[in-house]
Amino acid sequence: MDGPSGTGKSTVSRRLAIACGAAYLDTGAMYRTVTLAVLRAGFEGDNPKAEDVAVAAVADIRSVTDPTAPAILLDGEDVESEIRGPEVTAAVSAVSALPAVREALVERQRTLIADATGGTQGSSGGIVVEGRDIGSVVCPDAPLKVYLTASEEVRAARRGAQDRKAGRDGDLATVLADVRRRDQLDSTRKTSPLHAAPDALVVDTDDLSVDDVLAELLHLVHDRGLVS
Ligand code: C5P
Repeated sequence: MDGPSGTGKSTVSRRLAIACGAAYLDTGAMYRTVTLAVLRAGFEGDNPKAEDVAVAAVADIRSVTDPTAPAILLDGEDVESEIRGPEVTAAVSAVSALPAVREALVERQRTLIADATGGTQGSSGGIVVEGRDIGSVVCPDAPLKVYLTASEEVRAARRGAQDRKAGRDGDLATVLADVRRRDQLDSTRKTSPLHAAPDALVVDTDDLSVDDVLAELLHLVHDRGLVS
């Protein structure tokens, strides 16, 4: 499941995984966690040392792929709430653009996917993976690829509501500016820029509720025989 921020990817992916008895992996949380390690080491995302710190941090990350209680740990510490804060959000796209960071995280993601699929897709429950480059780079042979989109305004409104619900500042103009900035960085970087894989099903969620999107995806999953 790929797409820019605010398309409902996380909610839909988690619910889809629960409905299918599959595991769930939020790769954005992994990029956010190595970014947190960079910030804690006292560097900005664009500092030349950031790449080394972020790559070293990959070994200290643990992703819990249970969709009913997903979590991400850095050196054993649950950092789920801290990685959603404004400091990490402001720095994550710069760190995610570093080629060595992507290489290390993609390798880790492929291992987690192989563990959840037992080598053959679907043989042990399968996995729903969300990010920006899952269908295009991480898992080009995925049996179902979905690319969620929505207009900037709708995505900013959703992100703002999410932030306010989590007790963070969700001012619309600030969130919209951040959505635009990250879209620009994520889709123009040299390594694995955000784009829909040619064989991805593109779903525009502007006028769809989470339930609508989920119903459509469940239909597809059943149609393709991915769950019994
Ligand atoms: O999905 P989320 O908004 O949490 O992702 C945070 C950032 O991580 C994105 O803006 C993007 O820069 C990066 N990312 C990425 N590749 C992924 C997932 C996330 O570059 N597969």
